[in-house]
Amino acid sequence: MPVLVMKFGGTSVATLDRIRRAAKRVGVEVSKGYDVIVIVSAMAGKTNELVGYVNETSPLYDAREYDAVVSSGENVTAGLMALTLQEMDVPARSWQGWQVPLITTSAHSAARIEDIPTDNINTKFAEGMRVAVVAGFQGISPDGRITTLGRGGSDTTAVAFAAAFEAERCDIYTDVDGVYTTDPRIASKARKLDKIAFEEMLELASLGAKVLQTRSVELAMRYNVKLRVLSSFEEQSDDAGTLVCAEEEIMESNVVSGIAYSRDEAKMTLVSVADRPGIAAAIFGPLSDAGVNVDMIIQNIAEEGRTDMTFSCPTDQVKRAEKALLDARTNGEINYHDLIADTDVAKISAVGIGMRSQSGVAAKMFKTLSDEGVNIKVIATSEIKISVLVDRKYMELAVQALHDVFELDKTA
Ligand code: ASP
Ligand code: MG
Repeated sequence: MPVLVMKFGGTSVATLDRIRRAAKRVGVEVSKGYDVIVIVSAMAGKTNELVGYVNETSPLYDAREYDAVVSSGENVTAGLMALTLQEMDVPARSWQGWQVPLITTSAHSAARIEDIPTDNINTKFAEGMRVAVVAGFQGISPDGRITTLGRGGSDTTAVAFAAAFEAERCDIYTDVDGVYTTDPRIASKARKLDKIAFEEMLELASLGAKVLQTRSVELAMRYNVKLRVLSSFEEQSDDAGTLVCAEEEIMESNVVSGIAYSRDEAKMTLVSVADRPGIAAAIFGPLSDAGVNVDMIIQNIAEEGRTDMTFSCPTDQVKRAEKALLDARTNGEINYHDLIADTDVAKISAVGIGMRSQSGVAAKMFKTLSDEGVNIKVIATSEIKISVLVDRKYMELAVQALHDVFELDKTA
């Protein structure tokens, strides 16, 4: 029988009542003839609570025990979902990650999936089980310890199962009804997209749109898993939600498909560093060693052999970046006059695969921001994205203006 993967996020399993609603949806797919793999998150708020317990007990915790504790939320919902399905006379059983087994690396709290052997679950399907309820977010390391995949990791569990079982689709049930052109809380004209290409979703996911864990989209793109994002709170038709799929499956789309923003960006400038071969490596090597995620980078024109180097990174990594750079200066690896951190900035990005074939998007974006009196501090581009850093107070204004000028409220 064809296999369908259905993933329910924390808000969709937050209460017994919601688990019942989710189970009913699973029942509908079973009656259509699918064998279903259900991936569940922990009940909303549960994982945060468990992380809190760990931090309070042991601030410099053993990551293996952190995983043992925080993975437990999913075990509860997996068992409850299986029980609920059984109450509805749907043959179902729960699986913890190690039982499948979902084999991961040993990188605790950020493990990567290595393999999902399908034999155990397939044997049960062959015996008449119709639903395998699998605890998301967790796996087992080669040395037999429980691992977790990083926050939001159930999305990645779901896509990995869809790839391993060659599922017809992977439906991600959440508390929003799809992927929007931008955040509807900021731009009231934001429109739900029927389809979006993997590459675009990847940019939007990593740029701050929080619907899907970025890694899950990477994985879906690699294995060409059709992903559907939809709400578990609304009645669903067969074409509900947003389909994240290969570019070829989208006939017509706007040049820009979405505007993403990220509030938590900081801009850091190293004033007057020597302009010599190896200077970028000397600066960004230590930053990378310190785990700082550098995003945009600009090096200014040199004057008298010295230049300014500006980069952006998440606000909560500023302290780490400062320390790494100060240490590098103390060790004599680099030399700079000053380090200026501006934590009052936001990043706004226009994303769209149409940019590959159409020019003028950047010019239009810059003109729009200038008409609104918004100063651009840093610019970065890729084939399908243009990002700018602006003062945070202009973030909403910039998002709305760009959404308007690229007419994202209208379909192509
Ligand atoms: N419960 C985990 C978290 O909150 C995993 C997930 O829900 O995706 O991060
Ligand atoms: Mg999530």
